[in-house]
Amino acid sequence: MKRLPNGLRFASVVFDVDSTLAAIEGVDWLAALRSPAVASACADLTARAMAGEMALEEVYELRLRAIGPLVEEIVALGEAYRHAVEPGAGALLDALREAGCEVHMVSGGLRSALLPLARDLGVPASRVHAVSLLADESGRLVALHGAQPLATQHGKAKVLNDLALPRPSVMVGDGATDAAARGVVDSFIAYTGVARRPAVVHLADAEASDFASLYDLLFE
Ligand SMILES: [Mg+2]
Repeated sequence: MKRLPNGLRFASVVFDVDSTLAAIEGVDWLAALRSPAVASACADLTARAMAGEMALEEVYELRLRAIGPLVEEIVALGEAYRHAVEPGAGALLDALREAGCEVHMVSGGLRSALLPLARDLGVPASRVHAVSLLADESGRLVALHGAQPLATQHGKAKVLNDLALPRPSVMVGDGATDAAARGVVDSFIAYTGVARRPAVVHLADAEASDFASLYDLLFE
């Protein structure tokens, strides 16, 4: 492989957001605004998707309908992401950008809630790939805005493939949908600073439990 400038090991780095760049899960955060019953129903749907009993796309709209998030709650979630940013994430993304690395955020979360964090981290909106929703007549965001690949089980692999990232490329994330992108990027790093899932770590080329160790994996 060609040698990259500025000590970079990868020409592009793709970060997951929930439980990777930020120490929250956006859907759980929204569900917690409702009753414990809604929160546990959403957690149950997520678990069924992760266990392969239901497709993520089916679970996605069921969860949204159960929560019925309002626009102002998505704005509040955006602030929650900013406050939950992982220690060292900003410094690492600055270093990557200064070294000339192409940085993307790819998430199954709600795009409008991720943009304030992306702005803090210096990631342009054009490199934030997530799920867009439509409001119903009562102003609740309960439906997907047309085809939303990132609300599907293998969405990350498809989106990363379409991006034609500069190579070598690496995905950094904590979840099964991140590990599913493995065949499309050159390397997959399991981020375990928020949640450690052995099945995901098992599929990874490397594991990082904080952003300082990520720095060592992304730079020579
Ligand atoms: Mg995640």
